[in-house]
Amino acid sequence: MVVEISLPDWLSAETLPTHIESIEDRMRFVIALSRRNFENATGGPFAAAVFEEATGKLVAAGVNRVMPCHCSSAHAEVTTLSFAQKRLGTHDLGGTGMPAHQIVVNWRPCTMCMGAVIWSGATSLVIAGSDDSVERITGFDEGPMPHDWQGELEKRGIRVTDNVLYDEAVAVFHAFAASGAVVYNGRGGGAKTSG
Ligand SMILES: [Zn+2]
Repeated sequence: MVVEISLPDWLSAETLPTHIESIEDRMRFVIALSRRNFENATGGPFAAAVFEEATGKLVAAGVNRVMPCHCSSAHAEVTTLSFAQKRLGTHDLGGTGMPAHQIVVNWRPCTMCMGAVIWSGATSLVIAGSDDSVERITGFDEGPMPHDWQGELEKRGIRVTDNVLYDEAVAVFHAFAASGAVVYNGRGGGAKTSG
């Protein structure tokens, strides 16, 4: 028995940049992937990328793959961190001798992905926003986040940078809602639909 999470064909075929310098450009790259993912019907409107924080070297890019891969945990963060760890041959992106790794995501993590970020060994998280926009606009359930979730990450040595290209990220969620695409919450009978 093997569990497999794959990248969509359009992303596998892409020649990705080797380095992205600024935080804004890293986020712009991730937001573009989030839009392409739902437009290509290859997953939800979420994407992430792992970089060497200091150099901007791109280690892995990934997208939400819940429905195509039949895997409720295949959120963008879990997918991308897993690719990064596989590429580097380690379970710990913060292991001895490793450069600091940063994960950039087009919104704040859900409950599960907050844990995934903590266990990954990444030492910084960059997000486009952290308010209730995703739940309000798209209907996705982000789970019971601790009130001070950013503080919980900071306590564990993970720096959080919020509100990077907020408007651009929200625009993708509006486009997703307008597309009528499926919102794949667990217990589907209770899933909300947007708009
Ligand atoms: Zn998640």
